[in-house]
Amino acid sequence: QAKAAGRNTVRFFDPEMQATVTASATLATDLRQAWREGQFLVDYQPQVAVDGRLTGVEALLRWRHPRRDMVPPADFISTAEETALIVPIGRWVLEQACAQLAVWAAVPSRAHLSIAVNVSVRQFRHPDFVEEVLEMIRHAKVPPNKLKLELTESLLAEDIQGTAARMQQLKAMGVALSIDDFGMGYSSLSYLKRLPLDQLKIDREFVKDILTDPSDAAIARTIIGLAQSLGLGVVAEGVETEAQRDFLAQQGCTEYQGFLFSKPLPIAQLEAYIDAMPA
Ligand code: C2E
Ligand code: MG
Ligand code: MG
Ligand code: MG
Repeated sequence: QAKAAGRNTVRFFDPEMQATVTASATLATDLRQAWREGQFLVDYQPQVAVDGRLTGVEALLRWRHPRRDMVPPADFISTAEETALIVPIGRWVLEQACAQLAVWAAVPSRAHLSIAVNVSVRQFRHPDFVEEVLEMIRHAKVPPNKLKLELTESLLAEDIQGTAARMQQLKAMGVALSIDDFGMGYSSLSYLKRLPLDQLKIDREFVKDILTDPSDAAIARTIIGLAQSLGLGVVAEGVETEAQRDFLAQQGCTEYQGFLFSKPLPIAQLEAYIDAMPA
């Protein structure tokens, strides 16, 4: 390996790189321990329709590290993927979501709400994934169409055949499917029409400067138009201002998620938030 790297061999002894390698080994160890000790939580962020009514929430993983502040997913999801810990952790998030859906299914004012769950590539490609989701839905006795899986575009970059087959199986069970952070990856647009999708999510990156950056505005408009012509719903994420919401609404965006409405909340606070909403 070192020989093959040739002139680049020196990189192995770069102290900065060594520090990175050590840090990620430590993170992997910490993550394993966090999983064993149950340091994970799920927060829920509201998603609202144009008229302001709540349509559902997105489940977002949180890690309450004993010696640090809450660790954001951006700092540990890739290590969880590399170590395959994302498989049991992701399964646990799905179980939490199904349990919550079961609670809501029994409450008339909550029964219409959906829960979106992020699914990593490694988790989605796990041979047991589809069967496990089916089992969880059966076990929790939840209406399958209230569970929405947020998949990433990278699933469409490789083994599109396998991805499509799995998506068909999930769709056949009634599960809703969304493409997260749409526009950030390399999905081949021609495949989109062949996939059993329900929704596209516009990444926060395009929403942030939508009012000042004409290319971001054009991208958002294009994604909304694409969703409309394919008959899909479209959610904008990272909506922080009324001006952003209004602009997106003018373009035909149907759902919104962002700090303008609410940050991700622990379940008790989410329940209070829902109760405080105009009926
Ligand atoms: P994502 O799925 O695109 O989730 C949206 C992210 O944007 C969340 O960050 C959310 O807190 C943040 N956000 C929402 N509204 C706003 C806003 O108005 N302004 C700003 N600045 N940010 C906003 P979070 O919770 O840190 O999660 C980051 C990413 O980690 C997620 O991006 C998702 O890709 C991943 N992730 C989170 N939970 C899970 C999980 O259970 N499984 C997997 N595989 N990935 C997860
Ligand atoms: Mg997401
Ligand atoms: Mg997203
Ligand atoms: Mg995003």
